[in-house]
Amino acid sequence: MMRDKTFKSTLFGKLSQLYSEMAEAYNQAAGKIGLSCRGCPDNCCTSYFQHHTYIEWAYLWTGIRSCAEEKQREFMNRAREYVRQSRDLLNQGLSPRIMCPLNDNGLCQLYEYRLMICRMHGVPNSLVRPDGKKMSFPGCIRCQELYSHLEEVSVLDRTRFYRNLASLEMAFVGPKIKVLPRVKLTLADMLIQEPPGT
Ligand code: SF4
Ligand code: SF4
Repeated sequence: MMRDKTFKSTLFGKLSQLYSEMAEAYNQAAGKIGLSCRGCPDNCCTSYFQHHTYIEWAYLWTGIRSCAEEKQREFMNRAREYVRQSRDLLNQGLSPRIMCPLNDNGLCQLYEYRLMICRMHGVPNSLVRPDGKKMSFPGCIRCQELYSHLEEVSVLDRTRFYRNLASLEMAFVGPKIKVLPRVKLTLADMLIQEPPGT
């Protein structure tokens, strides 16, 4: 996956643009429901979820490398602890609820670099997978409480974002996409190992 530097930064530029489009669609959807994260007691950065693209993983690492070394060490220490604790809980059949290693005092420290799943979590959203299967996500608890009183809820269809991200991923990984292992990593997993070939 060693891609030429200029090619890689062009793809990162496209990913950043795609992230902005996601943010715009998210803000519109949240605005319609009246959802705001301000003062939320239920920080969703403790949710346990996995991410699936090499390009997002590599872009996240450009964010990590832009931080001061001491901060990077702090993230890595927390990530190792996160992985250790979450493995213990999973082995006991429990679902981990541990704060993401990138969150300080309730705020994401790499907000511009956060991944698609972090960006879409709050509002009800759906997508149609390439095999035609429709997946639906209800949004966060605070959001569900807000829209439980509404007669009609608009659901953000994120299929176009999903497809665009898949195209960027294919361009980023190149022909090796057929042989590389599928990415299925928590944010903490993504911190304790760098993406291959970067
Ligand atoms: S997305 Fe929902 S759960 Fe997460 S911080 Fe915002 S309001 Fe709270
Ligand atoms: S990357 Fe940022 S937004 Fe995503 S879970 Fe971690 S702290 Fe929260």
